[in-house]
Amino acid sequence: MVRLTGAAQSVGFSGQEPLEKCPKCGGRVFESGMTYVCENSVGPNRTCDFRAGKIILQQPVDREQMKKLLSTGKTDLLARIISRKGRPFKAFLVLTDKKDVGFEFEKREPKTKKEGKPKEPVAKIDFTGKESLGKCPKCGGKIFETETSYMCERSQADRKPCKFKLSKTILGRDIPKKQAQKLLTMGKTDLLDNFISKRGCPFSAYLKLEDGKVGFEFPEKTAPTTESKQANVPGTFCGGSISYTLSSFASRCRVSNQRRRTT
Ligand SMILES: [Zn+2]
Ligand SMILES: [Zn+2]
Repeated sequence: MVRLTGAAQSVGFSGQEPLEKCPKCGGRVFESGMTYVCENSVGPNRTCDFRAGKIILQQPVDREQMKKLLSTGKTDLLARIISRKGRPFKAFLVLTDKKDVGFEFEKREPKTKKEGKPKEPVAKIDFTGKESLGKCPKCGGKIFETETSYMCERSQADRKPCKFKLSKTILGRDIPKKQAQKLLTMGKTDLLDNFISKRGCPFSAYLKLEDGKVGFEFPEKTAPTTESKQANVPGTFCGGSISYTLSSFASRCRVSNQRRRTT
């Protein structure tokens, strides 16, 4: 699972135990001075910009909390953050949509007046009794299966509903529950075959979560292009390891079609 690069050694991470995987590129995150840095964010061939301070607004962020942030997307409630105006406040550190470190303030659910973490959000609809597939990559809510999609429970919320949804059929291919679960827990499915491109060519790809959205990753690395159609894949992503290139795929596909015709 861990991507090994030479970068780690060159900046002296050797011997250090990595905290967790980098949320941006999947590299390893290490301590470096007063920051936590992605191994790919240092050195001459930087491909990632993930780093986070060990002290954020006077609040120390220990290894345990940083690990929690990296693995779950959120720390415990931190009580000693001091605002730039000198006012203390409580907040969680969270990973933002762009996988940078941000704050999330303590929420007060209308129904739960007690202090504490509203761990069990109010289930408003028929998801009750259903088994959740996993955690929503956007909001941390639960994902449930519906007739046509895998959907975040908070899609039903009155206020600020969550938009995360994974269709059960993508480019003509069924997405089995097992793969949806894998996507939600591991961030990536197995290699799935038989997607049908817009030009009618079957292709294989992984589904992958990036910035809380679902995109493709092809088994072969290609240069990123701006032609993202099915999913809102940002053109640049840490490391450029994600390439969603229907156009380049299509040209490959055409070639193989020609070959098929001539043989
Ligand atoms: Zn990284
Ligand atoms: Zn959600």
